[in-house]
Amino acid sequence: MAAMRLVILGRQGSGKSTQSARLVDAYGIVHISTGDMLRSAVVAGSDLGRQARARVDAGELVSDEIMIGIVTERLAEADVVEHGFLLDGFPRTPAQAEALEDILGAAGSVLGGALNLEVPVDVVTGRMVARGRVDDTEEAISRRLGLYESETAPLLAWFEERGLLTVVDGQGAEDEVFSRLCVALDGAVLDGSVS
Ligand code: ADP
Repeated sequence: MAAMRLVILGRQGSGKSTQSARLVDAYGIVHISTGDMLRSAVVAGSDLGRQARARVDAGELVSDEIMIGIVTERLAEADVVEHGFLLDGFPRTPAQAEALEDILGAAGSVLGGALNLEVPVDVVTGRMVARGRVDDTEEAISRRLGLYESETAPLLAWFEERGLLTVVDGQGAEDEVFSRLCVALDGAVLDGSVS
């Protein structure tokens, strides 16, 4: 089987990071988290870190130009080409989605699918308030979720139109959600839509 190339989408607080870590382990693919890449760049004080810092700190989106640049470079690296990837945090805007299609197309490959880990807004708000992080005030949470709805939710339609979207219920125990994701992926692999 060729390498799997996947995107995972989900609101903040949906459990996306936890489930991504488990999925990449189980399927032997590379986890590409743009949030992690940006945070490391900020800590390292690289050019990218300096450019992105203010926006990351404010919870605003980093420009499409910067994001498309770093993802283009990462997707060309040998581990990703060989093993495939789970892209987490990208695309976040329609322009990034178009760019992803172009990057893969230029390399002679295609995206296998997009998983949307669906957890309703009131549930993720409750989870984030409960974890009590300093940046998780109700106001900040509602701003970040609002940004998600306006910028990212239209991507669901974009993936759906291309027959790439699978919605997975993200409510319930961690193991249960993980099993659902595996069932969704195994089904997609079997019917040939992820290769
Ligand atoms: P969260 O899920 O809390 O938004 P992430 O770890 O995915 O966290 O991203 C952290 C921050 O990094 C975002 O708030 C944003 O500033 C920036 N970022 C990450 N990915 C992208 C992207 N694809 N486009 C624009 N900004 C991004």
